[in-house]
Amino acid sequence: MTWKIIFDGKGFKKVEMQDETLKEGHIKIKPIFYSVCGTDKSILLGKYKLEKPIALGHEIAGIVMEGNGIDIAGNELKVGDYVALYPNYFCEKCIDCLNRNFNACRNKVMIGVRTDGGLSEYMMVDPRFLLKLPEDLQKILGPIIEPVAVGIHALKKFEEKDRRSVIIGLGGTGSLAYETARILGFNDVVAVEKNERKLELARMIGIRAFPSIREALSNKAINVLDTVGDNKSIGEIESALDLIPSKSEIVITGLGNEVLSFHRDSLIRRELTIKGSIIYNPTDFIEASEIVYANQQYYLKYITKVVKLSDPDILPSLLLDENNLKIIIIIQ
Ligand SMILES: [Zn+2]
Ligand SMILES: [Zn+2]
Repeated sequence: MTWKIIFDGKGFKKVEMQDETLKEGHIKIKPIFYSVCGTDKSILLGKYKLEKPIALGHEIAGIVMEGNGIDIAGNELKVGDYVALYPNYFCEKCIDCLNRNFNACRNKVMIGVRTDGGLSEYMMVDPRFLLKLPEDLQKILGPIIEPVAVGIHALKKFEEKDRRSVIIGLGGTGSLAYETARILGFNDVVAVEKNERKLELARMIGIRAFPSIREALSNKAINVLDTVGDNKSIGEIESALDLIPSKSEIVITGLGNEVLSFHRDSLIRRELTIKGSIIYNPTDFIEASEIVYANQQYYLKYITKVVKLSDPDILPSLLLDENNLKIIIIIQ
């Protein structure tokens, strides 16, 4: 027998089920660490509608238990390897995949968001969607490779590094992107966070954070990275649009169903650039693992809570928590 923790739209339940046999060409992994993210919260709150009850968990790292194969970076995988899950399976056949924009795949399968993710005893994964991690990487950093890759892909959209970069939102993506920006050579990075507790916590670990975008502006063109998936963050940008210097660039990562509207004259008269950014490509993911590996001590401070998953009932409060930057759950 084996188990999964299923979210049915209301609550989490541990469900016992028959062992699955390992499909040919697949690898069996034991998920160890699950990093909580805003997408999980959106699913819990019903903002992101599930098609069926699933096991959540897309920011996952674990151990290879059975099988072998070649991972996303071309490394050979064997039993005992520590791996990160690449939770957006792309099809390699659609128009975007053929253009090598795998992040925009039309047939993307989102593990832990649309179908079963890592909150389970075992996962069966195509090795192409795993990345072998260095043996001496602090294991707890394994699940944050994914959100770091989201930040890397978004930060690469900016044309200029030598100007102020303002990260909106210190959720998982935003707080890690703050550190990643610094490492990638953006030399003046600040953040905006509305939540007072989170703002205080961020300042305690050395993040230059402000409660509003107005306070984070500079008098030269800036980069704005929006990592919050709701209208409030765009409202925050809109509220300061008249003050944002000309030629500034705005990159938006947070997903949502809302229609965005910008004042046409503000956009045109000041030649603002607005770009969207969706997840990452394999190259970003591999780069994320290298950057995290080379800067472990810097990323560790963003993990402000580590909890062992003793009971599925503890999950809702952890997913809704607003008092931490990154929470890591030890699955088993
Ligand atoms: Zn995530
Ligand atoms: Zn595709």
